[in-house]
Amino acid sequence: MTDELQTASARAEALRQALHHANYCYYVLDQPEIADSEYDRMLRELSDLETEHPQLVTADSPTQRIGAAPLAAFAPHTHRQPMLSLGNAFNEDELREFDEKVKRHLAMPPDAPIDYVAELKIDGLAISLTYEHGVFKSGATRGDGFTGEDITANLRTVASVPLRLRETEGLPHLVEVRGEVYLEHAEFARINAAREAAGEPVFANPRNAAAGSVRQLDSQITAQRKLTVFLYALGYTSSPVARSQWELLETLRAWGFRTNPNVRRCPDIDSVIATVAEWADKKASLPYDIDGLVVKVNDFGMQQDLGAVQRTPRWAIAYKFPAQQGRTKILDIFVQVGRTGAITPVALVEPVTLPPNSVVQRATLHNQQEIDRKDVRVGDTVLIQKAGDVIPEIVQVVLSERPEGTLPYRLPADCPACGTALVRPEGEAVTRCPNKKGCPAQIAQRVIHFVSRRAMDIQWLGDKHVLQLMEQGLIKDAGDLYFLTKDQLLPLERMGDKLADNILAAIAGSKHPSLPRLIFALGIRLVGEHAAEILANHYGSLEKLQAATVDELDAIHGIGKTMAESIVAFFGQPETAELLDKLAHAGVAPTTGDYAPTGDAFAGKSFVFTGALQTMTRDEAEGRVRQLGGRASSSVSKQTDYLVAGENAGSKLDKARSLGVQVLTEDEFRQLAASPPDVS
Ligand code: NAD
Repeated sequence: MTDELQTASARAEALRQALHHANYCYYVLDQPEIADSEYDRMLRELSDLETEHPQLVTADSPTQRIGAAPLAAFAPHTHRQPMLSLGNAFNEDELREFDEKVKRHLAMPPDAPIDYVAELKIDGLAISLTYEHGVFKSGATRGDGFTGEDITANLRTVASVPLRLRETEGLPHLVEVRGEVYLEHAEFARINAAREAAGEPVFANPRNAAAGSVRQLDSQITAQRKLTVFLYALGYTSSPVARSQWELLETLRAWGFRTNPNVRRCPDIDSVIATVAEWADKKASLPYDIDGLVVKVNDFGMQQDLGAVQRTPRWAIAYKFPAQQGRTKILDIFVQVGRTGAITPVALVEPVTLPPNSVVQRATLHNQQEIDRKDVRVGDTVLIQKAGDVIPEIVQVVLSERPEGTLPYRLPADCPACGTALVRPEGEAVTRCPNKKGCPAQIAQRVIHFVSRRAMDIQWLGDKHVLQLMEQGLIKDAGDLYFLTKDQLLPLERMGDKLADNILAAIAGSKHPSLPRLIFALGIRLVGEHAAEILANHYGSLEKLQAATVDELDAIHGIGKTMAESIVAFFGQPETAELLDKLAHAGVAPTTGDYAPTGDAFAGKSFVFTGALQTMTRDEAEGRVRQLGGRASSSVSKQTDYLVAGENAGSKLDKARSLGVQVLTEDEFRQLAASPPDVS
């Protein structure tokens, strides 16, 4: 063996081992240890080495295989047609290369246009669903491409998996379709918040959470997580159903499957490239993660001629967006005290620009368990990324660059704000400051939450002002805001006459929020915006909510025992009574009349408002819905009856259309609310 070959062989072996380990963590444990971009880079390096030295290819090389063997805990499911993976393109040149190869294989002239379909690459888990005579029979993961895990019971709990297909002419008696099961951002956040509260480790991203949820041995747990599916491909059918990908998507929709509305037919590769660029900008506006676009040759005849090589078809390619990832150094680690006393360690890093152009200086470290797992230390060089495109987090430490003399990081024993000894209940991940009543950091965070845009929306009053007001003893809780005077505000730093007036006007103007906003603003542990909406819809007033018992709350769909206990504990605290008293004295009350029901014409009906309304505020419109016994919700689902679209309505309108939800203009809504139809 030449020296060069020897080096290449050793490198290939190291890459194989690292990739096998990564596959196991990712596909079997749902706990990746490295970033996807790092995985892609290693796989590509191995594939390049193997192309250069074909004698290095081994039968078990990760370049020759898909995914990982299925977990023995599930019954095996053999796919009628193998579920392949996709080749990757990381830039425009690689997309053009793909287009050239397609034409070469089809013996077409280089300048002939190819008809492509560009679909969003949903960052979830590939699944296969089998229907016999239109009835859902079984569902499986991809596994190693040939054999997957039988997860039928779990997929039955997913609302968007049809249990029976719509009767259409020519529905084959046996149909196997493929798609992606995934979690929307809001549901991912809800699941992680609940896990954090229960002291369980949080999921790294929505993909892992979806994979962990659908591969549960207990389908009750799957049922509690709102998983969703999009279908996009055919595995097997007993008779042909379409001649092209475009036609297939139409057929899938007609059969009752959920397909992604953002699919585009592209007459040539230039149009594909323009579509990819468009989504690089727009992807942040989607309620779920995509990691790229999948480009498919539209014509099935051409697809068949092109065939597949090893693990990937020649007629499709996955374009992957550049990872929002970078390398930086940890300068310090400090802890933040949240409004419920949760202690969150935060890394202060050397400023780094993540694509496209956001400068990151801080990253969450979640909790001590996470710090231990990643062994993050001050002085380390780390890979950092934006999880779910929002919160920056540390992916991994680059151990080879760890300076000498670093020490493992331990959370402090005492609260940095009030000095109280911190507690971490047995088996929980979260460390807390138990001093609810007196810890100035917790109180300040509660007030900041109260003031925030999604809560009471008190504009002009910044976080720094709140902290100063606290430090100077001018406020003890959010209720005191309503008794502030201009003379008290003027001496604050960075405060002027006009700003003080604006702040006072904003405080006074916040006295009549909608009931869900007020409930959310109180900052009850575990009660987010969605839960606040459910509580407002159920109780209709703060007084009634205050009187609720744990059992009663627990019985409400979407609340649950832990949240019920948290709500009852909150209203039992003397400081809550003090706060509510001050708010009442200040005249803070939810929009009058909103919640005094005046009819039940909208009973059982669910409304979502989107875009800018012209003749009423959203709170007023939602109040009107509740008045008539309906439910107002913030997200569109199959359960939504009406979407009211104001000006510049965006993704919610698209979603409503794709789900066949009835769309109303503001005018139509006003008419309906003025003289509601008989909706019995
Ligand atoms: P892939 O992600 O490159 O693409 C194929 C998959 O895309 C399909 O199986 C399907 O699930 C999905 N997909 C989404 N929308 C689709 C659509 N509209 N049409 C067709 N397919 C669609 O391939 P893969 O084999 O699923 O996964 C490999 C990738 O997983 C790697 O590139 C890497 O990013 C990641 N990975 C990461 C680690 C890690 O340790 N971080 C380990 C293994 C794999």
